[in-house]
Amino acid sequence: MELHNTAEDLVLARISEIFTNIEKSNNPDNLCTCNQCRLDTACYVLNRTNPHYIVSNRGVARVEKESIQRQQLDADIVSLVYEGIRRVNHNLRPTAVHGVKQTEPSDRNTPTFNIPTIVGRIFNGSNFAPIAGINVELFRNGELVPMKDNNWQNPYTLVPNTEGTFTFWPNPIPASESNLHEVFEFNVKVESAEFETLNHFFKIPVISDAHRVSSFSLTHTVKLPDLYLFPPGNDDEAL
Ligand SMILES: [Zn+2]
Repeated sequence: MELHNTAEDLVLARISEIFTNIEKSNNPDNLCTCNQCRLDTACYVLNRTNPHYIVSNRGVARVEKESIQRQQLDADIVSLVYEGIRRVNHNLRPTAVHGVKQTEPSDRNTPTFNIPTIVGRIFNGSNFAPIAGINVELFRNGELVPMKDNNWQNPYTLVPNTEGTFTFWPNPIPASESNLHEVFEFNVKVESAEFETLNHFFKIPVISDAHRVSSFSLTHTVKLPDLYLFPPGNDDEAL
């Protein structure tokens, strides 16, 4: 049995559509349409949308039945997408280098583990407020993971307008051939004077492809559980 969130499909489809339209219309408002802004917008909308879960093999009938309800949902999503685009627009994120077009390396046609994008959120465990102004680092084998290109940061600085959301897109890892199954172990680390150091370990299984994936896909994303930071010294307190 597999659970599937149909609201997520709707959100991701609308975001792709709306960003494509913005680019086609020569972008009169000069909004950033880079991949990181797309992903930030997706998080913004998904964090404000009720999930619609279905058991995936019974999906079609259920989706039909809910179609009227879904039209309303769709209208809400579209307005949330526009709100999100403005909130996460890179002009509000001065530290990031957005929209830098990378030239693809010439070794594109070599077997590769294409690591998905990684998304998570960090909250203050004392008051559940989203964290800002703190660096989030992604490690693998004790080393800071290199990112796919300059649009992605590691360490990632949490900014107030994305409400505790961080995103990473690790650089693809070369494979000896395609169709190999491998599990990659990562950890997200947050170190700050205000909070106890957080280390969140997780694994991503990846099957190697015949070539490097160059186009960004919102559906190829790993979502981490929400993470919480606590003030130092709580360990010693008797509960
Ligand atoms: Zn951007």
